[in-house]
Amino acid sequence: MTNGRRIEIRGTVQGVGFRPWVVRVARGFEIRGRVFNDSRGVVIEAFAKEAQLERFSKHLREDTCPGAVVLELRERRIEGVGPDGFSIDRSEAEGQKALSIPPDLATCDECERELSDSSNRRHRYAFTNCTQCGPRFTIAVDIPYDRAHTTMDAFEMCDACRREFQDVEDRRFHAQPNACPECGPALVLVSERGVPLEGDPIERTAALLCDGAIVGLKGLGGFHLACDATNAEAVRRLRARKRRDEKPFAVMVGSLEQAEREAELDQIERSELLSRERPIVLASRRVGGGVSSEVAPDTEILGVFLPYTPLHRLLLDEVNRPLVMTSGNVSNEPICKENDEALRRLEGIADVLLLHDRAIANRCDDSVVRVIDGVPTLLRRSRGFVPRPFRLSRPVAEPVLACGAHLKNAFCIAVDDTAYFGPHVGDLDTLAAFEFFEEAVEQMERIFEVAPRVVAHDLHPGYLSTRYAKQRAGVAHVGVQHHHAHIASLMAQHGCEGPVLGLAFDGTGFGADQESSWGGEFLLCFPYGFERLATFRPIRLPGGNVAMREVWRIAYALLYDAFEGEPPLGSLPLFDLVPAPSRSLVHQMLERDLNSPRAHGVGRYFDAFGAIGLGRPTSNYEGQVAIAWNTAARGAIGKCY
Ligand code: ZN
Ligand code: ZN
Repeated sequence: MTNGRRIEIRGTVQGVGFRPWVVRVARGFEIRGRVFNDSRGVVIEAFAKEAQLERFSKHLREDTCPGAVVLELRERRIEGVGPDGFSIDRSEAEGQKALSIPPDLATCDECERELSDSSNRRHRYAFTNCTQCGPRFTIAVDIPYDRAHTTMDAFEMCDACRREFQDVEDRRFHAQPNACPECGPALVLVSERGVPLEGDPIERTAALLCDGAIVGLKGLGGFHLACDATNAEAVRRLRARKRRDEKPFAVMVGSLEQAEREAELDQIERSELLSRERPIVLASRRVGGGVSSEVAPDTEILGVFLPYTPLHRLLLDEVNRPLVMTSGNVSNEPICKENDEALRRLEGIADVLLLHDRAIANRCDDSVVRVIDGVPTLLRRSRGFVPRPFRLSRPVAEPVLACGAHLKNAFCIAVDDTAYFGPHVGDLDTLAAFEFFEEAVEQMERIFEVAPRVVAHDLHPGYLSTRYAKQRAGVAHVGVQHHHAHIASLMAQHGCEGPVLGLAFDGTGFGADQESSWGGEFLLCFPYGFERLATFRPIRLPGGNVAMREVWRIAYALLYDAFEGEPPLGSLPLFDLVPAPSRSLVHQMLERDLNSPRAHGVGRYFDAFGAIGLGRPTSNYEGQVAIAWNTAARGAIGKCY
């Protein structure tokens, strides 16, 4: 006897080859019926004997299509006997909006094989992709996710590509960015003035990199600046041109074996490196690796990642050495995405630019992961993850836009029981960064067709994100205390209602008392509020922001406090490095309580201890002394404090 089931699947199931996969599975189990997209995901109507349906359903639950993320699978019985065979039905999908644009997916094994196969028509083609891999969010202009609504609309498929696109048995069936050397995007290498250079773009770029050049590289979600990571002089030059002080650069390596030569990796770090999201993985640097110490001065941590587009794969194979790959921008500005924008903004930084003619619709920086206590923790959630939905345990009553804070900004849009995170925006220090923020919010609202009714913002009135929130008219505004927001987001991540004792050890954040800045906070949190139980004893910052760079001032203030106005300077080498007039100026500031705001940030304790312990009077970027202090302490402590 034939039974029928309707199976509704929600999650990231569009644009990843889910329907053809279902067709193959269904045919394998001799199921009749159809599969189609609806506005929330994919629907299957399946007809067969009960035992077959059960096996089919089990397979869908346990062994899903690569690239798909199933958030929910619901089944119910339906009447009927079903059609002959099993097919993709497009009728119900027409006219409906697809809510789930998938994130960009790293090149799959089969496409990599084609790249290196000299008999394949996509041999060495830098824009090879299929239903399992390739650009997605970064090329999506609008919904539903189909070619006409991506920046691939500018390219008309050749006959061969169209045949693949229309053949349900082909692995490029409905691969929206499908392309080949005949019909798709092409690379061009140009001088810093935009003049095209002769020769094979990949080979020529690789040769220049090996000669120490700095290359602006148009990738998936924006431009990278690349140079030979084993060439100390090239790395120094990149750092100087990018005005990046001493902040570490990430390094792209050609293979897992090459990654192991540069970093000590455990099983979890290896699988993160190989994951489809291909994030930058922060791992312990291996002594004796080939990467220059200029790449990440002062720290034993090295950010490594593997190629995630055919372009990166071809380039890394050609240079056969690790490459620095850092966001293509001047410090504190967003990553470049347009060709002419890159030529303008990277002038004086890049010696040459490797460009292509596929436009980037949405900027997306590389994501960053660190494995902490065996758990992969996302430090920056961007390419490969955005705009994958996150399921909330408690639905929101009305659509919410949360604007985020000032540093390392990221925003979030929540509708019903789903949260969508925007890409990493970065520090909202510059007009360019703020424009990126506005553009990204507008784009996410459009592609998810959400009109927020509630706009949440940081309590700090001066943040550009707060000002943006307050300018949005016709919505309810909700101010959220900075550290409470950190803890509340963890509660949401773990589906936890509280009460929770949350410890937020953070930089500064505007206090709920409206007058002091908070930092290391112990908050008792409920779903809708919190109680401040404790904080760190504040440290004064003589000279305000100057003390963030001249960390010896923070050390001085801490000692002044601990020794009641008589810091034992003579016994600490740190203060030999500070001119006597500067020391007495700071002493007077503390004595008279002039220009010495109080900070609660735990980071200031690390700054102070690091300065004293390491004898380092200055810090070139936020966290530098703390990182060095952490490195110095590593492995040396076997007991609890
Ligand atoms: Zn592929
Ligand atoms: Zn083609």
